[in-house]
Amino acid sequence: MENYIVSARKYRPSTFKSVVGQNTLTRTLKNAIDAHKLAHAYLFCGPRGVGKTSCARIFAKTINCLHPTPDGEACNECESCRAFNEQRSYNILELDAASNNGVDEIRALVDQVRIPPQVGEYKVFIVDEVHMLSPAAFNAFLKTLEEPPHHAIFILATTEKHKILPTILSRCQVYDFHRITVDDIAEHLAYVASQEGIVAEPEALSIIAQKADGGMRDALSIFDQIASFSAGNITYKSVIENLNILDYEYYFRLTDAFLAGDVPSSLLTYKDICDKGFESQHFIVGLGNHFRDLLVCKDPVTLPLFEVGEAIAQRYGEQAARCPVQFLYKAMELTNKCDLNYKISNNKRFLVELMLIQLCQLVTTAEPSSVASASPSLRPVSSVANTSGTAPQKQTTTAPSRPTAQPESARPVVQRPADTQHAVSSRPAPTASQPKSTPSVGRPPVPSIRINVAAKSEETPEKQPLRDTPVSQDGLLQSWNSFAATVSDEIALYNTMSTHLPRLQDNNKCLITIESPIQQALLLEKQDEITDFLREQLKNDFVEMELLLQASDEKKVTYDAADIIAAMKENNPNIVKAIKTLNLEIE
Ligand SMILES: [Zn+2]
Repeated sequence: MENYIVSARKYRPSTFKSVVGQNTLTRTLKNAIDAHKLAHAYLFCGPRGVGKTSCARIFAKTINCLHPTPDGEACNECESCRAFNEQRSYNILELDAASNNGVDEIRALVDQVRIPPQVGEYKVFIVDEVHMLSPAAFNAFLKTLEEPPHHAIFILATTEKHKILPTILSRCQVYDFHRITVDDIAEHLAYVASQEGIVAEPEALSIIAQKADGGMRDALSIFDQIASFSAGNITYKSVIENLNILDYEYYFRLTDAFLAGDVPSSLLTYKDICDKGFESQHFIVGLGNHFRDLLVCKDPVTLPLFEVGEAIAQRYGEQAARCPVQFLYKAMELTNKCDLNYKISNNKRFLVELMLIQLCQLVTTAEPSSVASASPSLRPVSSVANTSGTAPQKQTTTAPSRPTAQPESARPVVQRPADTQHAVSSRPAPTASQPKSTPSVGRPPVPSIRINVAAKSEETPEKQPLRDTPVSQDGLLQSWNSFAATVSDEIALYNTMSTHLPRLQDNNKCLITIESPIQQALLLEKQDEITDFLREQLKNDFVEMELLLQASDEKKVTYDAADIIAAMKENNPNIVKAIKTLNLEIE
């Protein structure tokens, strides 16, 4: 390997145009130079390897260039540019604060600041990893930053903006560098490959780009590593072998097995993965990410979150189309649970296999069509709680769009008076507390959980400006009661609404505390209508409902025998009769 230069250095950008993935930012810098509106201090923030130092150097070179090009780039030909490119310019000084973070180093730098440039107009001081400076060094630096000479420009770079003192921040123009997208990195890698005479499969470059997590420097060093390993022929296979990445082929195959309810095939695929020497937890995380990717590419709104190579994107789209949203929610939940339990499990392989079996049952236990048509609100997420006890196979044939009611006997008897008391107090309604007449719910009583009911703001047409009129507690109550009045013929709902008034929180959240899953179901049933009504009445499109289901166990203790009997009597006239007839003394 004679004259081997690592690609990260060889392909370091030398013009604004060649900086990958930071177009907006480089344009702003160019415009500032063009308009002669230069600040004395800049702060470049962002993750490692995204081009902060490169941009600082290009900036330094361009402002000193004697004949800038019409589109605002350095000419790379004048004496100043040549001095920069040959790294012999005195107009640029770099300090790496990570290794030189003391007062002495900063003092040496400050001394340099006073000397005006020999050639060109500006001296540029680049301080890398500026957050690493010691407090004393920071203070020494601050004085210079407050009153810099005309010719001095500071560019401070950091990966950790939050560690920069406010006194420094306020004196800098701040530029936020973003992670470079997978597509941009892959495209640049393809360019480097073509320059180097290396053959590379697009999918392979896409995987490298993903692995680099937004940093070009990392991407290029992985690229170099694999290029030398695979003798100038970078294939998808060589990349996944080299980076120890599990082939996404496995995830696609497994997901197909889950959708088909094919337990044997999923277990065999898992065995294959283990045999190849892959760590199981690595596999679980990868599988979870696969579901996540399928989910985000289902909806155009979340598509920007989807970062895979173009070549494979179509396959994701195709598989995503076959996955019901509910399936993906539950699958993510299951993989997450498995991941969390993995470390503490005594039988890790069994744990993973159990997860695979559960994943296979997700679609077969609920009729796909009903699942797919479920509204994409947040409601499905809360029902994920159900998956711990996967429903029995019998439901396969005629599962209704909502789970059917639990047998009444399964419910603790004590709970009923609680509902009755509330319901009856405002309006005598014998049927109100009988769950059979209410819309069915399959959820077992859960300990205190919060359910975010309406997150509808995305659904409102984008063109109309969203209303944000301040909401008052009084106004909220009034609107709430107005809605309740419109449903006075739906007795159970009416009673629930009129006995459970919302409390206004955080300006537009109405929190309703309820005690039973029945009330929860009643309100969930009408969530969209109620939310729409409130938003309309209150002229605020950010109004949301939140239900707080209090654990029935907590409630239980507040009722004594007399309460229960009183409630039973109100609920069932026969009990009153019985008490009278039998002359019982239980008053
Ligand atoms: Zn020049």
